Amino acid sequence: MDNFTLHTLGCGSARPSLKHQPSSTVIDHRGNLFMVDCGEGAQLAFMRQRLSFSRLQHIFLTHLHGDHVFGLPGLIGTLALNGTGGHITIHTFEEGKEQLCSIFNYFCRDTPFDIRFNIIKPEEDVILETKSLTVRTVPLNHRVTTVGYIFEEKPGERHIKPEMTRFHEVPISMMKHLKNGEDYVKPDGTVIPNKILTSPPSPALSYAHISDTAYMKNLAEKIGPVDLLFHETTYLEEHKAMAAPRGHSTAKQAALVARDSGAKILLTGHYSSRYKDDTQFKREAEEIFPNVLLNNEGLVTHIKRSK
Ligand SMILES: [Zn+2]
Repeated sequence: MDNFTLHTLGCGSARPSLKHQPSSTVIDHRGNLFMVDCGEGAQLAFMRQRLSFSRLQHIFLTHLHGDHVFGLPGLIGTLALNGTGGHITIHTFEEGKEQLCSIFNYFCRDTPFDIRFNIIKPEEDVILETKSLTVRTVPLNHRVTTVGYIFEEKPGERHIKPEMTRFHEVPISMMKHLKNGEDYVKPDGTVIPNKILTSPPSPALSYAHISDTAYMKNLAEKIGPVDLLFHETTYLEEHKAMAAPRGHSTAKQAALVARDSGAKILLTGHYSSRYKDDTQFKREAEEIFPNVLLNNEGLVTHIKRSK
């Protein structure tokens, strides 16, 4: 079973089209769901992918443009309607809290469901730590205050080598210590080094979500070498002149960030509705960076350890 999976709910941009839905992505990490942006229709796309509302506890907003937010009142209304209590945390800027609170206070009154806010700032910061995951922000360059989110697994425990622990007669009570890197001291005082009894932890995986932004040359070093990079590809190079003033990137520019950050795979998206053939985004990006995955609604991407 995969521990780290990405579900694309919507990968279109602001102008509605019949081909794509507005922005929304769900990250499934070990059964816990984290949503990034919640464009119109996100809750229906969420249900179509058979994701469970009860496992969704965090929603991260990149910025306060309608195509990233308009699905939120509907989704929160549904969570409140379920009537089973519970809570959700929305990560957004101070102004996001103010705007959303006035909507929720009117439409989601008198429910046992608890809506919490984590106020973030447009700077590099760690905004959430769970037992197994860290989420940090990087500021982006869009027309309004915007951040990207980077999800990084915490390093795991070392793996026990059962044949070696049996051979050295290590008691079960020591296993937890071995996983934490401790040596084993036998009753006669002989020290068995940890590296004989265990193998290194599996490499930690990471995902970066970068939307919306104009091309930023210094962004790559802030992201670092993630296993999967979603970087918006609103335009193709033929429309490069309109990308920067509108705070967006071309497929080629996304590929430059993927290449320079050391990403393993680039995932496209936030497509302008002017283009009829999405494969153009992939082809353009592949001229710079070889591992490009063409995004689409319903796409499920498994984030895996590469050899
Ligand atoms: Zn935007």
